[in-house]
Amino acid sequence: MIFNEIESLIDYFKEEIVILAHHYQRDEVYKYGHFTGDSLKLSQLATSQKEAKYIIFCGVHFMAETAAILSGGKQKVILPNLDAGCPMADKAPINEVVSAFSYLKEVFKGKRIVPITYINSTAEVKAFVGRENGYICTSSNADKIFDAAFSRGDMLFFLPDQHLGRNTSYKKGIVGDEIGFWSRKDGLVLSGDKKKIKVILWDGHCWVHQMFQPTHIVHFKRGKEPYKIIVHPECSFEVFKMADYSGSTEQIIKTIENAEDGTYWAVGTEKNLVMRLKRNNPNKTIDILTNFNTICRTMSKIRANDLLNVLKNLKEGKIINEITVSNEIRKYSLIALNNMFSV
Ligand code: SF4
Repeated sequence: MIFNEIESLIDYFKEEIVILAHHYQRDEVYKYGHFTGDSLKLSQLATSQKEAKYIIFCGVHFMAETAAILSGGKQKVILPNLDAGCPMADKAPINEVVSAFSYLKEVFKGKRIVPITYINSTAEVKAFVGRENGYICTSSNADKIFDAAFSRGDMLFFLPDQHLGRNTSYKKGIVGDEIGFWSRKDGLVLSGDKKKIKVILWDGHCWVHQMFQPTHIVHFKRGKEPYKIIVHPECSFEVFKMADYSGSTEQIIKTIENAEDGTYWAVGTEKNLVMRLKRNNPNKTIDILTNFNTICRTMSKIRANDLLNVLKNLKEGKIINEITVSNEIRKYSLIALNNMFSV
């Protein structure tokens, strides 16, 4: 019943709406996506749909904000359930980020520190990075962004995901006491001489990807079947190092879809995505790397009912759950986004 209603409302609006569904979304919502993908791909696709007056973003809050930044205020962006936030993005409140950065500038006087924020961050943090002429990055381009940032500065300040920052540093040969840590509780933590520091990591993580542990990899590697392990770079450094492959959501999907039939894969990322990969690739053996429940609970707060509610209200001329950003935030966030696009 509810599904028929959603379908007929989608039909009613035709090109006036575009529904975006992130790969981690529940199936009951995912199936309505005009486009599916990761956060940046979806935001870019949405703004290319010029006829669409409304972008309904079935993801989390920072994703809808990114769409609002890129749409330039010309399209209305709607998040079907306002409780769908990202705990990782919330681990970097703007006031803490600003005061940490000014402290670091004092401690490392004379060095140019370039801030980089993972796209999984609030619009305020993106704007802060833009004001400092830094970069936004995604999990698929972080290493290229590291190169670009180092060509313009001496040190990097990486927000908010410490694991993506540490794993990317490792790929660039930056390890041990070359990496500093900004603890939200204790401030700057160094393990050696401050002159050696090249990257400072923010104290943030994704609790979903942090659930994967080295023992889970050992379990699959000890079995009889020749499992390959593929993980998202938001996983911890130990897991990242032990895995056979790592990559963004889109890269994980492509790697498995392009793999030969009969191959075995243990995948370290969000559960809805892994279960969908399993269904869509019946000739391969695909398992999730852990038995823990790695569903992104905040993204899952969006239910088909929320989508229906948004569509019904639109039909009555009411926009509910609109996500907006101020002109100031948009202006500076765009600097950081454009710095990324230029790489
Ligand atoms: S999977 Fe992790 S990083 Fe992604 S939206 Fe959920 S909590 Fe945030």
